[in-house]
Amino acid sequence: MSKPLPPGACIGILGGGQLGRMLSMAAARLGFSCHIFEPGPNPPAGQMAARVTTAGYDDAKALKAFAASVDVITYEFENIPTEALDILEDLRPIHPNREALRISQDRLVEKEFLSGLGLRVAPFANVENSDEMQAAITQVGTPSILKTRRFGYDGKGQVRVPDASRAGEAWVAMENAPSVLEGFVDFTGEVSVIAARSLSGNVACFDPGENVHVDGILATTSIPARLSAAARTDAVLIASNILNALNYVGVLGVELFVTQAGLVVNEIAPRVHNSGHWTQNGCAVDQFEQHIRAITGWPISDGVRHANVVMENLIGDDVARVVEIANEPGAALHLYGKADVKPGRKMGHVNRVTPLN
Ligand code: AMP
Repeated sequence: MSKPLPPGACIGILGGGQLGRMLSMAAARLGFSCHIFEPGPNPPAGQMAARVTTAGYDDAKALKAFAASVDVITYEFENIPTEALDILEDLRPIHPNREALRISQDRLVEKEFLSGLGLRVAPFANVENSDEMQAAITQVGTPSILKTRRFGYDGKGQVRVPDASRAGEAWVAMENAPSVLEGFVDFTGEVSVIAARSLSGNVACFDPGENVHVDGILATTSIPARLSAAARTDAVLIASNILNALNYVGVLGVELFVTQAGLVVNEIAPRVHNSGHWTQNGCAVDQFEQHIRAITGWPISDGVRHANVVMENLIGDDVARVVEIANEPGAALHLYGKADVKPGRKMGHVNRVTPLN
């Protein structure tokens, strides 16, 4: 794809959750249509897209038909089976690229990649059996956190190891899943940078946001983050470094711990990110449009913001407060069209906006 895709082109999105939904809405504003590929029924993104294919990632026929119907392919989650990507990438461009997916699908590979770039990460060790668990405890120390290498999200697949006597039970809890033991980072705060790189290699970062997690799930993101000017610059440079190293096209989320010694990279997500939802009401071009622009070969925006924003996730029963929230001045609601309310399920979010002076 050398020329920008014209309005009217079709974007294929793997995954039909709220991120796919908001990508579809942004794409529609630019005159594109979207085709969602999602194994589950009634995906939230399907309500906003021109087409939906309901099929598994092992359905080669459905994958080929999907690819044939779109001009470019992207995704809203990183755990796409390799076999599906093998089929798709022969047929259409996929952004972000395979390398970004390979690295972010596996916490060990990700940590090795990041430390190879000279970036600071938590001390870590690979664990595939109980002997390696003991060796990892000796190497990394405690307190630490044992995390599955693959398929973890929102704090799932993680066990805290407060001291060495709990190592055995932590490993048993992982049910033999290859894991990484990570030293516990003594952070003063958590921030993330939502960064984008265009097809022509331009990079733009949104202002870092400060994140608060409750039970491993993002609760709020506040902009501006409480960061020194030097740390803010550092955060942006770290994100740019990662984008360029991956020859990346699209939006990337970089989660960072703020420590006395500087910023420590927690993890990267090769997609639009929950901690970037504030951009919908804080910037002229939000993270979703930014991603669509990047993958269609359009110029990306500079990411400048025009407001301070606090984004609050509406999780489970929080959604019962929507009418009350709609009464607040400066509160912009974004609901995901999910029928069933379940504990821990992200139902929507609210951006509370105050203009810059
Ligand atoms: P993750 O799924 O790795 O992003 O972890 C979810 C949350 O758990 C993070 O946002 C932190 O609040 C906490 N956490 C994860 N890893 C560490 C660590 N190595 N040190 C301290 N806190 C952590």
